[in-house]
Amino acid sequence: MTARTIAIVGAGIGGITAALALDAEGHSVTLIERRTGFSEVGAGLQLSPNASRVLADLGLSAALRRAADLPPQVTVRDLASARTLGGVLLGASLKERFGAPYYVIHRADLQTLLLDAVRSRAGIRLMVGREVTAIAETDTSVTLTLESGHGSRTDMFEADLAIGADGVRSRLRQHLDARPLQACGQAAWRALVPREAAPEEFQSDETGLWLGRGHHVVHYPIGRGQQINIVAVIPEKLGSEGWGRLGEPAVLRARLHGAAPPLAALLAIPDSWLVWSLVDRPAARPLARGRIALLGDAAHPILPFLAQGAALAIEDAAVIARTLRQAEVPAALDAYARERGARVRRVRDAARGNGRTYHAGGLTRLARNAVMSRMTPARLTERYAWLYGWTPDGRP
Ligand SMILES: Cc1cc2nc3c(=O)[nH]c(=O)nc-3n(C[C@H](O)[C@H](O)[C@H](O)COP(=O)(O)OP(=O)(O)OC[C@H]3O[C@@H](n4cnc5c(N)ncnc54)[C@H](O)[C@@H]3O)c2cc1C
Repeated sequence: MTARTIAIVGAGIGGITAALALDAEGHSVTLIERRTGFSEVGAGLQLSPNASRVLADLGLSAALRRAADLPPQVTVRDLASARTLGGVLLGASLKERFGAPYYVIHRADLQTLLLDAVRSRAGIRLMVGREVTAIAETDTSVTLTLESGHGSRTDMFEADLAIGADGVRSRLRQHLDARPLQACGQAAWRALVPREAAPEEFQSDETGLWLGRGHHVVHYPIGRGQQINIVAVIPEKLGSEGWGRLGEPAVLRARLHGAAPPLAALLAIPDSWLVWSLVDRPAARPLARGRIALLGDAAHPILPFLAQGAALAIEDAAVIARTLRQAEVPAALDAYARERGARVRRVRDAARGNGRTYHAGGLTRLARNAVMSRMTPARLTERYAWLYGWTPDGRP
């Protein structure tokens, strides 16, 4: 296998995991990040077995066990009546079934453990405070233009190939696919509350999913059970989009005024919410060309209704590290793009489908509730075998 010099643009979860996976293959990796600090927003992340398996292979099992929580199951309720509709089994039985755990973790904790691993690897160079503003490609290399100090300094960086892990507003993506980003008229409101402040109904370790017409709420404990992460997805007017902006609690309460009393009490606790406008952009066409590849949200942002955006980025990292064992860079990246295309489409369609199911009204809602109530939690989990059973070695 040929060791290569690889530039990764963006040190989010996808970029950092790719750096670790490529370093493990013996490549020389430079991770370029425009931010100067790594203060991840206060929010949680679900890490399903298809993703935790990759991180375990990178030697992160012990660190994950220390930082993450293991919810025993997801309980699905009707948002207005609090009636239990069904459940999905997680915890020990899911770990046994798929050979890897389903974690929930504070984003900052995940980022810290990933960055600790990066700093311990001599083959990875982390450059912060550098924004990639342009990329040029020849038959044998790529050259990135890096700006720092608010554009006061420009450097050039040459590598054998570049990976754009630069998030949903990716600059590298524009090089491969210029179609614009589109908002989808929904926003995720996120907040953390101390667990001891939450009503009794929220003291268990379960993940809760509350389904209402046109909106839903998810919550789970993170930070070794000390905090509850809440995500509420509600419609928003197109044109009001933003990323990580402050949300007014009264707006959320008005939108979810029909919530059952215990949920309403939980939603009343946070003084401030951070709001993300959701985007549902088709995967880039192509995902890679020549010596440039895209990964994570840069390649395929998906709706968060299956909790798979970061998981897909982590899968991408494992696959690109494997395909780069091939001799020719363009052929290796082409193999990566072909392998990821079908998987990403399937996950994206499933996330969209979940959105429709979660937010259903009328007869569809009744049918959904009837189906769910007939299925055991173990059977519902089994419906996701294709997703959680994914392995990085090329098996489906
Ligand atoms: C409400 C919500 C809940 C979610 N829940 C889950 C979940 O439970 N599980 C899950 O798997 N996923 C979840 N996701 C999705 C997940 O958060 C994202 O898919 C994931 O974080 C994307 O990671 P990334 O590394 O691809 O991109 P990012 O995290 O966006 O990282 C991109 C990085 O690139 C840097 N950058 C950008 N441009 C440049 C440039 N030009 N030069 C240098 N650096 C640059 C940025 O500063 C950033 O650090 C959720 C998303 C939302 C909105």
